[in-house]
Amino acid sequence: MRNSRQRNEILRIVRNTNTHPTADWIYDQARMAFPNISLGTVYRNLNQLVEAGLVKSLKDTTVVRYDGNVDPHDHFKCDQCGQIYDLSVTDPTFIDTLNANQPFLIRSFHLELHGICPDCHREAQTHPA
Ligand SMILES: [Zn+2]
Repeated sequence: MRNSRQRNEILRIVRNTNTHPTADWIYDQARMAFPNISLGTVYRNLNQLVEAGLVKSLKDTTVVRYDGNVDPHDHFKCDQCGQIYDLSVTDPTFIDTLNANQPFLIRSFHLELHGICPDCHREAQTHPA
């Protein structure tokens, strides 16, 4: 019972942010509701949520990040600040186009776009190097 309360809290935390947090960040948030929760418990619950399809995990260079948005979408990573944003540049029917042109059965795809986010872009214009 206590375990499912912790898991629900972790799911709430991941769904309430669009910053694609790491397990460490989620752990800090979860400790506000469950001061004695361990990082291992947070990891175990995150893995269960990923397996249940309620949360997605994404690899960001050396760290794993978590995404409460499980609908198909693409990601944009800012080369300057490193923040990952949700962005949908592909039409979901694009998969039909892909499957029409090669022998593999493609079932899913995920684009990671790179560039400069609006905040960093604005910063560069305000303070030119
Ligand atoms: Zn996302």
